[in-house]
Amino acid sequence: MTPLPPGSTIGIVGGGQLGRMLCLAAQRMGYRTHVYAPDPAPPASESASLYVCADYQNSDALAAFANECDVVTYEFENLPVAPLEAMGDKLRPGTRSLAIAQDRAAEKRFIEEHGGTVANWRPVSETSDLDGLEEAIGFPLVLKSRRLGYDGKGQAWVREKGQLMDAWEAIGREPAVAEAAVDFAAEFSILVARRADDTLAVWNAPRNIHDGGILRRSEVPAGEPVEEQVEEAVAIACRLAQELGHIGVMAVEFFATAEGPLVNEIAPRVHNSGHWTIEGSQCSQFEQHLRCIADLPLGDPALVSPRVTMDNLIGSDVDLWAELLAEPGAHLHLYGKKEARPGRKMGHVTRLG
Ligand code: AMP
Repeated sequence: MTPLPPGSTIGIVGGGQLGRMLCLAAQRMGYRTHVYAPDPAPPASESASLYVCADYQNSDALAAFANECDVVTYEFENLPVAPLEAMGDKLRPGTRSLAIAQDRAAEKRFIEEHGGTVANWRPVSETSDLDGLEEAIGFPLVLKSRRLGYDGKGQAWVREKGQLMDAWEAIGREPAVAEAAVDFAAEFSILVARRADDTLAVWNAPRNIHDGGILRRSEVPAGEPVEEQVEEAVAIACRLAQELGHIGVMAVEFFATAEGPLVNEIAPRVHNSGHWTIEGSQCSQFEQHLRCIADLPLGDPALVSPRVTMDNLIGSDVDLWAELLAEPGAHLHLYGKKEARPGRKMGHVTRLG
């Protein structure tokens, strides 16, 4: 692919806040954006030049969408892969990144095959698979559905044998993985951008603080013990991006443990733990992703401030918007979502210094 000239059209499959922020970055770079999602008015629809409301399973609508775009990307990993195959090389990153990252069992196998370490785990496909878990993993463990999980959804913790059946029911008896509870000192992520020519860019690793499975805060620098594990984690994240043939930004989430970095999961897209890069780095994850898929030179991921923090505004946190706007140096981002349901990401605020 030759560099995509300004005025070209970038398609985004998925209509959430990640798509919205991709649109805003694309606009600044002189591109048009088309967004495709199944909801009537998702956050990205208002920021795009064109919004197409259609189902993710509708391969004809997806093919027609791709026809109108010069390159297509995605901002959401729980997409059916088959209807996207028809987009061929126009889809960046390709379907391989998606297929592996959206299946927790395939993802763990892929990470292990390429030198990463994950928590001790077993696949669970049927009720009889629960029998061996006490011996193979021990308690506590967490059952996670293989597909369609995010922000702690589709997960159930098991503290003793008697709770296994209830947990299996709670996740709907869906194909799952059982995973040992990780005794971690901190969580962090590595955000890596890769171009088709295999050049890579990596941002400073943020420490991520979760509550109830949802990211609350990312902070840079990550401090110890994360910093001493970053070199190894970066090597793993870059290898995973290369082995996937990933084009664009991807995030690899890690647990910092006494035994070193353990991979939790791969997000084959821009990521919530990279929102701080909009104000906190020379080139944001959104611009960098577009640079990758448009075959432009990589931007500089360097920090512009020695310290950056990003706090998510979840549910009613968003009611603080007027106070945050009054705070000098607080960079407020709101996603335009009408209803502030509990657990819903409504916006975020970034602070430098
Ligand atoms: P996930 O959806 O798999 O990223 O999980 C969301 C959050 O739940 C993680 O960021 C951790 O805070 C927590 N978590 C998930 N899996 C484990 C585990 N095996 N051990 C300890 N905490 C976990």
